[in-house]
Amino acid sequence: MADNDIKTTEGQGYSRRQFLIGAGGVGIGALAGGFMVKSFFLPDSVFAVPASEGYLVVDTHKCAGCASCMLACSLVHSGETSLSLSRIQVINNVFAAYGEEDSVVQEQCRQCPHPYCAEACPTGAMHADPDNGNVRTVDQAKCIGCERCIEACPFTPSRVQWDPKKRKAQKCDLCKDTPYMTEEGGVGGQQACVAVCPTRAISFVSDIPAQTDTGYQVNLRDDNVAWALLGLPTEDDGSYAPVATAAPAPTGH
Ligand code: SF4
Ligand code: SF4
Repeated sequence: MADNDIKTTEGQGYSRRQFLIGAGGVGIGALAGGFMVKSFFLPDSVFAVPASEGYLVVDTHKCAGCASCMLACSLVHSGETSLSLSRIQVINNVFAAYGEEDSVVQEQCRQCPHPYCAEACPTGAMHADPDNGNVRTVDQAKCIGCERCIEACPFTPSRVQWDPKKRKAQKCDLCKDTPYMTEEGGVGGQQACVAVCPTRAISFVSDIPAQTDTGYQVNLRDDNVAWALLGLPTEDDGSYAPVATAAPAPTGH
């Protein structure tokens, strides 16, 4: 399904801020001056989340739809090759021809400037990890499996996945805890999906990319002559260009 199928989060549970407000109301007498009461009065700006320092971009024209990235992702993170456990979804559209605009659907986490997933989490498990470039990450020790982050992600399908074995949420952390061979993962490191892609259609970038309704706007086809010989577009999106001005809207576009 296309990324522009943005969900509304209204009426889907309550956020960490609302959770704290509720808890503060219940225990306001006993906790006067304490954490809960402070949370009650904290302005929205306190919940501002620092920008991620890492993004995975996919050139869907270059992608062959082989699913190597997805299998590598689930293997390094979950120890098994399962497409449904992969934290990056790059899906071949069998009804479109190779290289066409909609031949591959990219469904990776956008590392949103305003991550609704983190805001919705009542325990702080979903957070911007300061030890990994503020990548939006699930702290498995804190996750209670309430699925609010999954529901709150504005994209369809949600960029937070449900792990049915652990009964917890999981999402792309840029391979922070899963070094590839001898190389460190995480921001600035090596990601398994990037390493195994046979067409080099996935890349790690440090600045937030320009985005469209269907994903990041990126052209990783360096050798335009070769791609043109294959009959594929070469100049459609231009090269990868980070967003130089204001951050995108909270919807993740
Ligand atoms: S499933 Fe886990 S990470 Fe997601 S909102 Fe609930 S506690 Fe937070
Ligand atoms: S809201 Fe969705 S796309 Fe945005 S950071 Fe969270 S999981 Fe990623």
